[in-house]
Amino acid sequence: MRTREEVTAFHESGHAVIAAAQGQMPWKVTIVPITGVCYGHVSLERPANESDPWGGRGCTRDAAAVRKNARALALSGQRRPLEILRAIRREAAKLVEEHWPLIGDLAGELLKRKTLHRADVAAIIPPHVNRSCEIPDRQ
Ligand SMILES: [Zn+2]
Repeated sequence: MRTREEVTAFHESGHAVIAAAQGQMPWKVTIVPITGVCYGHVSLERPANESDPWGGRGCTRDAAAVRKNARALALSGQRRPLEILRAIRREAAKLVEEHWPLIGDLAGELLKRKTLHRADVAAIIPPHVNRSCEIPDRQ
């Protein structure tokens, strides 16, 4: 059985690898917990205030965020919320399966170093997966 820290490393690594594969290299990935708040975090962008642990648009409270987005899409008349949620789940599973070896590599590095910054993550993700260099830097 995996420890909570190992599970967190794979979870946050999944966010980081998939974000990079979608064109957004994360600013920071950490498995340093904030007591009572979270076990880890991915910041997609450099936070305005670096001392704010929640700074930088992140992917916190995953399930709640997915439900909120599905509701918004449903309200816009696209499709029904359950169809949207199922499509999101299928797409996520496909992306995770496709990138699983890399997610494992990054999780291993996170377990060693606890926090990785953009350059550390970019060094692990090979160019054919890292699509973040194909779009202009948003900073
Ligand atoms: Zn998450």
